[in-house]
Amino acid sequence: MESALTARDRVGVQDFLLLENYTSEAAFIENLRRRFRENLIYTYIGSVLVSMNPYKELEIYSKPQMERYRGVNFYEISPHIFALADNTYRALRTERRDQCILISGESGAGKTEASKKILLYYSATCPVRENSASIKEKLLQSTPVLEAFGNAKTLRNDNSSRFGKYMDIQFDYEGAPIGGHILNYLLEKSRVVHQNHGERNFHIFYQLLEGGEEHLLKRLALERNAQHYHYLFKVCVVYVCMCMIMYVCELLETVASVLHMGNTQFGEDEFGETHITSDAQLKSAASLLGVDGAELSQALTHRKITAKGEEMISPLNLEQALAARDALAKAVYGRMFTWLVEKINQSLAFKNDMYYSDKSASVIGLLDIYGFEVFQHNSFEQFCINYCNEKLQQLFIELTLKSEQEEYEAEGIAWEPVNYFNNKIICDLIEEKHKGIISILDEECLRPGDASDLTFLEKMEDSLGGHAHFVTHKLANGKIRKAVGREEFRLLHYAGEVNYNVHGFLDKNNDLLYRNLKKVMCQSSNRLMSQCFHREEITDQKRPETAATQFKLSLAKLMEILMSKEPSYMRCIKPNDGKQPGRFDEVLVRHQVKYLGLLESLRVRRAGFAYRRHYQAFLQRYKSLCPETWPSWQGQLSDGVATLVKHLGYKPEEYKLGRSKIFIRFPKTLFITEDALEA
Ligand code: ATP
Ligand code: MG
Repeated sequence: MESALTARDRVGVQDFLLLENYTSEAAFIENLRRRFRENLIYTYIGSVLVSMNPYKELEIYSKPQMERYRGVNFYEISPHIFALADNTYRALRTERRDQCILISGESGAGKTEASKKILLYYSATCPVRENSASIKEKLLQSTPVLEAFGNAKTLRNDNSSRFGKYMDIQFDYEGAPIGGHILNYLLEKSRVVHQNHGERNFHIFYQLLEGGEEHLLKRLALERNAQHYHYLFKVCVVYVCMCMIMYVCELLETVASVLHMGNTQFGEDEFGETHITSDAQLKSAASLLGVDGAELSQALTHRKITAKGEEMISPLNLEQALAARDALAKAVYGRMFTWLVEKINQSLAFKNDMYYSDKSASVIGLLDIYGFEVFQHNSFEQFCINYCNEKLQQLFIELTLKSEQEEYEAEGIAWEPVNYFNNKIICDLIEEKHKGIISILDEECLRPGDASDLTFLEKMEDSLGGHAHFVTHKLANGKIRKAVGREEFRLLHYAGEVNYNVHGFLDKNNDLLYRNLKKVMCQSSNRLMSQCFHREEITDQKRPETAATQFKLSLAKLMEILMSKEPSYMRCIKPNDGKQPGRFDEVLVRHQVKYLGLLESLRVRRAGFAYRRHYQAFLQRYKSLCPETWPSWQGQLSDGVATLVKHLGYKPEEYKLGRSKIFIRFPKTLFITEDALEA
């Protein structure tokens, strides 16, 4: 038989805490590589689960596998997403404390697949009560519906989520799922009107064109050929399950209207005035949206302005008309998406009844949100996404350190402070009132006159120039820093440096829809659209919040929600850029290990003790190694453990005994004990 030591050499350690050389990046990556080679895609850093996308189906998610992990402690069995799901569920049940599972990683790393596996695990293993069977179904069904409208093929992932998602699953006091709620973040609306080469629009467009029946397409005035639509490229079939939401007609009408809008063309006459040259498309769009064709046409080619107190109608030039059209398409799609999430929430809403009050429900939250992004060209979207990751990192640091400290205190062991980088300084740089980047951006968006992306950059240079985490091309000595372009600013994020190009920041932050377009939409007779565009918008004089500020507010809310729960973490890594099984691209993996802050997590967690275990579990496992504890120990558990480790020859500096747990400082100590078991 293979000895324990060689097995460890071959498949690596299942918990990075047990790495001898835990500060070495090379050792970390080597451990990932060994395990990946053996199809062992899961590894822990203490209670953090690290996963590698295998890019192939593994036989590890079956019903019998789920049973294996039920009610079993983390460390007794190989690392798995089911172990994480099960432990979270048990903590919810026994400690009666709300939980959340935070999944992060870059595009294609496996976040969404992971959250689906967690949902599947709960739906397969949790008890059922009367209506919770239908809730389980609905929770599972909400995923493909949202994916149809919010996911798209990108260069990085064939099924990339283009929005952030936080989902609450509510359980009753017997642990049966009874409801759910979804919060969505920052849908990438620009995809509706533009996709990079090789990428596609949201799945639903293709599903409608490919899967829609003849009479439906006819009613929506659509042709089956997707190439016919300027907003689209290729066709694919995916089944959408939408039975849980009424309004299917209106949804599809809205989707179709967006396609017609994309085909609405404009011409310019000799006076530079713009008019619509594709009447049929405009009429189809208008009729599907339930608005008047002539009014829509007027609103797409003119704009109402107030000059010297007087209202005037000013014609748009060709470029402006195209922008107005795209803005409308994005607004219609974006609001439809938000509306859809609301509808799903209504269908998942936990219905109070006589026996179960809202109060007794406890919650597991699942966060599947975009990871840190660094591209060749980074814009407003990456800025928001990376800001979100700074916030999550802050939460992670605070909560991990806090829980470490709490555990030490609870166990009566002296707390040894850990050195770590607190990224609050970067969060402040971005979000601080009156001073941060978002404030400066909003100010420029409001400022009439010559405000532009470049004046925004200048304003930042003026007020943030000296900041340790903010850099532009200008050096203090008047020279030029080549690594940062003239239209860029660089942020030194906790995970690394990113250059952002300011082009488009003001427009994207304003996210403006001309008032007269809004007005037309408010009169819509389409049941869905009339719920998306409200009359108050045009009568209300207050400016709507900018995109960045809205995002900032929704993140603040999210942090509050997460803070009130006990977190578990999952960090997903993708092994290569080619979506291939079995290929481990070391450079790519190293990047992610860095951006995910894994070595830092390991260092923080290892600062004190590598390993800790409840007395009972420890005794149970190793009692056979000592005649006094074998076959069972009769006295206090702590005395039993003390007797056992003395017999094993542990030195005082190698371990500490807390109130309920033993803490072991070095992995080696544990390995020797483990090997003694094997011998
Ligand atoms: P994005 O940020 O773009 O939404 P993501 O992290 O959500 O990316 P997923 O969509 O979950 O990535 O995964 C991408 C693809 O990788 C999946 O479509 C699937 O093919 C494969 N994959 C991910 N996890 C697994 C797994 N555990 N087993 C098998 N294949 C997987
Ligand atoms: Mg995803």
